[in-house]
Amino acid sequence: MQFKDIVGQQDVKQRLIKSVTDDRIPHAQLFIGHEGTGKLALAIAYAQYIACQDKKADDSCGVCPACHKFQKLIHPDLHFVFPVNEKKKAEDSDDESSGGKGSDAHIQIWRETILKSPYINESEWYSLLGLENKMGIISTSEGSEVIKKISLKSFEAEYKTMVIWLPERMNQYAANKLLKLIEEPPAKTLFLLISENPENIIGTIRSRTQIIKVPPIAREDIASALVNRLEIPAPKAQDISRVANGNFRVALSLASSDEANPFFEMLRELLRACYSNNVLSLLNWVDTVARYSREKQKEFIGYSLRIIRESFMMNLGLDDIAYVAGEEQAFSKNFSPFINGSNVVPIYNELNRTIEHISRYGNAQIVLTDMTMKLVKLINKK
Ligand SMILES: [Zn+2]
Repeated sequence: MQFKDIVGQQDVKQRLIKSVTDDRIPHAQLFIGHEGTGKLALAIAYAQYIACQDKKADDSCGVCPACHKFQKLIHPDLHFVFPVNEKKKAEDSDDESSGGKGSDAHIQIWRETILKSPYINESEWYSLLGLENKMGIISTSEGSEVIKKISLKSFEAEYKTMVIWLPERMNQYAANKLLKLIEEPPAKTLFLLISENPENIIGTIRSRTQIIKVPPIAREDIASALVNRLEIPAPKAQDISRVANGNFRVALSLASSDEANPFFEMLRELLRACYSNNVLSLLNWVDTVARYSREKQKEFIGYSLRIIRESFMMNLGLDDIAYVAGEEQAFSKNFSPFINGSNVVPIYNELNRTIEHISRYGNAQIVLTDMTMKLVKLINKK
């Protein structure tokens, strides 16, 4: 992966390149930012730049043997760790001799996925692994595996690079092992951690890493990427980039489909049932949604929060700064009279509380019923 393949993020790219030209590469760096900003791609392009045998001022060469291997993610000094579900694969046997375990067992699908869609998010990854309802973890044995790999001499490059995607999913034991390595790193070893929830990483790891903040992608960068790479007409690209709000994964999914967000219909049904206080429809709705995976339920509520926000902006007459288009825009407009200064905060709190309860493995049926009953009251509040 080269820097030129990554949408926008000029400042971050410059900063990373400067660390190489100044010969001051921090041995442990933590890339933080929202999904869809390109953190993972930036880390990989950075590692490739460091390994490239014919670096240019602003990018790796893309043609040297090191670049070739990096571009297939098969360079022997490039290692990956990412959350998986061990039980799914091997019923958590601790038999180290069984060959690929943890990340290694899934490295093939990881490579294919990241090469195709480096902007993938966590729940998409889990559904590719067939985990749907479960959260992946970075387990104890993975921690040992990292030590093993890092203690090898590098094969071809000057540096060994360990890319750890979502270190917040490490269990305590793996995190402690990583901490030890970061505290006393073997020579010429590079740890690139990529996190969306850095507050969930143990503080001692965070405090020993150089933080690289990866901001949402600039709107104009998303728009021009859509025009140049996907040949989306400029006006539509503008629309999409406004709605995507700095997230290129969202931009791609909007660009690839003319249909509204799959959650749109779900939300419309819910809100209609709420404002007409139609108990039967509400119960049916809960029944359907309770069967979805927890990740999908949380994503849906995240989507709902966004539409509620847009409706409120429209209620205030601030249509210009609403990030919706097409069908969503028309719906938000119609719905906006129901979202006002007296109920918007309680609705927000209620939806956030629901996300929390789902995360804590509350009974989906009960949690969602509770949410809908509260929404009926709040939405009909004058
Ligand atoms: Zn090169």
